[in-house]
Amino acid sequence: MCTRIILLASLIIGLSCNSNPENPPPPMEETTTSIVNDTGKAIPAQQSFQPDKNKLYVYLTFDDGPQHGTRAVFDLCKTEGVKASFFMVGQHTAQRKNGLLLVDSIKSAYPQTVVANHSYTHANGHYKYFYRHPEMAFADFQQAQQYLQISLPIIRLPGNSGWVLKDTTHLSHLVSRVGKKLDSAGYNLIGWDLEWHFNKHSAKPVQSSQTMVNEVNRLFQENKTFHPNHIVILMHDRMFRDSADLVKLKEMITGLQANPTIIFETVDHYPGLKWLKNR
Ligand SMILES: [Zn+2]
Repeated sequence: MCTRIILLASLIIGLSCNSNPENPPPPMEETTTSIVNDTGKAIPAQQSFQPDKNKLYVYLTFDDGPQHGTRAVFDLCKTEGVKASFFMVGQHTAQRKNGLLLVDSIKSAYPQTVVANHSYTHANGHYKYFYRHPEMAFADFQQAQQYLQISLPIIRLPGNSGWVLKDTTHLSHLVSRVGKKLDSAGYNLIGWDLEWHFNKHSAKPVQSSQTMVNEVNRLFQENKTFHPNHIVILMHDRMFRDSADLVKLKEMITGLQANPTIIFETVDHYPGLKWLKNR
């Protein structure tokens, strides 16, 4: 319990550091939700992050961990000093030796890295069945939230780029009922703007690091991101389990850093998230 309170406190302090002290915090929302909380106590609403309009924000997101590659990606982000978000799977954590320890390491590195919810079972690969049973799917996300002791109300749907923010929703027909249920319970859903694809057999990255950099720059220039000046990049931890492929991730980061207006952020700073008094 003690560790959780300290982590939660550091999360709140970390977010507060980004706020302008001249502006009073926004009023707290009155919403009470059924999101599993790990403290049993109400916490203050988070201060909304105010992005710099002259900057471009890149959210590096890594899905499906813990897997082979998670530790390497985490270490690289620390070494390079870039922020990253890990959407983790409960079952992968349970099946992996010291899985929860790795999840805790990533959480403890906040504000550099965050852990968010990518379901407990990852739909067992049967997405249509999963999303056509919204009660079951909802329980699955709740189970992951509880098992991984995630404090952020942020989810990424398995196999689907659905979005639910405070004032914006973008859900395909298949995931609509699950998305609305999660929305009512106070969760945000974060999809992605650009995917670094992987080979289905080898799990190796398909595009080159330079192609990824070019794509990021193009999407920014053509204003083709879900939110202007903010781009969410989807990757998978397993793509970078080999050191030769990890180098490609480093190259992409270096290529993006060549643009001085780019800032790397974690998904809890994405514009338009809803923050809750009780969770
Ligand atoms: Zn996934």
